[in-house]
Amino acid sequence: MNAIHNPMLANQLTSVKLLINGEFVDSKTTEWQDIVNPATQEVLGKVPFATTEEINAAIASAQNAFASWSQTPIQARMRIMLKLQELIRIHAKEIAKVLTAEQGKTLADAEGDIQRGLEVVEHACSIGTLQMGEYVEGVARGVDSYTLQQPLGVCAGITPFNFPAMIPLWMFPMAIVCGNTFVLKPSEQDPLSTMMLVELALQAGVPAGVLNVVHGGKEVVDLLCTHNDIKAISFVGSTAVGTHVYNLAGQHGKRVQSMMGAKNHAVIMPDANKQQTLNALVGAAFGAAGQRCMALSVAVMVGETKNWLAEFVEKAKTLSVNAGHEPNTDVGPVISPRAKARVIDLINSGVEQGAQLLLDGRDVQVKGYEQGNFVGPTIFSQVSTDMRIYKEEVFGPVLAVICVDTLEEAIALVNANPFGNGVGLFTQSGATARTFQHQINIGQVGINIPIPVPVPFFSFTGSRGSKLGDLGPYGKQAVQFYTQTKTITSRWFEDSQDSGKVNTTINLG
Ligand code: NAD
Repeated sequence: MNAIHNPMLANQLTSVKLLINGEFVDSKTTEWQDIVNPATQEVLGKVPFATTEEINAAIASAQNAFASWSQTPIQARMRIMLKLQELIRIHAKEIAKVLTAEQGKTLADAEGDIQRGLEVVEHACSIGTLQMGEYVEGVARGVDSYTLQQPLGVCAGITPFNFPAMIPLWMFPMAIVCGNTFVLKPSEQDPLSTMMLVELALQAGVPAGVLNVVHGGKEVVDLLCTHNDIKAISFVGSTAVGTHVYNLAGQHGKRVQSMMGAKNHAVIMPDANKQQTLNALVGAAFGAAGQRCMALSVAVMVGETKNWLAEFVEKAKTLSVNAGHEPNTDVGPVISPRAKARVIDLINSGVEQGAQLLLDGRDVQVKGYEQGNFVGPTIFSQVSTDMRIYKEEVFGPVLAVICVDTLEEAIALVNANPFGNGVGLFTQSGATARTFQHQINIGQVGINIPIPVPVPFFSFTGSRGSKLGDLGPYGKQAVQFYTQTKTITSRWFEDSQDSGKVNTTINLG
């Protein structure tokens, strides 16, 4: 088994490398950013903001590699994915430790982050059937029609900080297994675990130039969105940046998928299984410190379920706030002091705007980790839709509760919110569930499932302010996104066939 560079074991601070044309290289930039452990403020390494020359070199290397990679037989591409899934499985625990150190989430959650990405790599191993075209024999006399799904060229991916394993794995495995080459721009806040996965991709046999990595922020992203040789951009991150990326790359003729921010609701009906529901709500609202794009932000309590609130608050109080690597931690730190300040500001705004603070996580102290970016579980009731705490994505362990009288009111409330990423319904009634799934305008719907992230055979979706672009990451939609459909209509003449008469109509027959 080959080792990978483990920044936690290195005896000096890691300077994160760029990956250009199969080589891990040091950036020549003068601009660097520290990678900081959110529980301790310990500096784990530094990440370069790549220069224009370096970004151009990465794109040029991907462009050169495309000619040969796109001609590589599909089974050979698939076998690299088979090897990659094996290597990720072997190194998962080691990568999870690094992920927890740089991102803050618990070790169990870090392993889940890797596992969900690994499932996409497993799915990429089915590319032979996924990329299969369609064929209809006899669309006219002696004429057949069929489609080819051909790769686009160089594609690029821009990823957020909250899933440094899963989201890069949503992107580059599907893009390259379809025959494209790729330039990845990971989050500058936690690129260490992403780089371990990239190293495994090279070990698995991804040839030089097929996968490249550049680091940085807005300047790198804008160059990727405007470069002539890039054909498609996959973006995951906030709505503000995702809208900018969608517009800029779209103006430059690229195919774009932009998966963006969220404000996820759960609707709780009086006939729901009370204990199962309360447990699910606590986990979905406060797990991963609320830093999931599918985290629960708003509980819509229908009818008498408002009487469940006191019990709900007691359950939330039992969660342990601590560093992610400590055993039994439920809620780790948020990513940065800036992120913590933003969450606190939003909690303050909720108080100022008149919501009732049932549980206050602002002053939580964690023994031994006094410098950590911790916010404890926070619950507001009497929230109204004009409050900032309702309108803005908090991205912290904060839940707003709104009480309504009927299912119809709940559906109208959820559908009026500008975001459309995820929603959950808790009920024991099939009829209620069916009405809800039909009428709700949200990409991912869970029925008695608090965080309904689709498995990789389906695609991650989203509607309204949570997604721009028609096709989502992974699943069948990813194959459509990363390929161009070509339709062939063909007729073959027997040598013995006489020339017919000239036909000036469009009738194929
Ligand atoms: P972010 O938008 O700040 O950053 C995402 C990426 O964009 C990073 O690689 C970053 O370097 C780059 N970037 C930042 N500012 C930029 C700018 N001005 N111009 C161009 N590029 C820029 O997001 P984040 O804070 O890293 O991640 C959290 C966000 O991601 C949340 O809003 C969350 O809901 C969202 N998210 C969405 C999904 C989804 O599938 N819908 C999944 C995960 C996270």
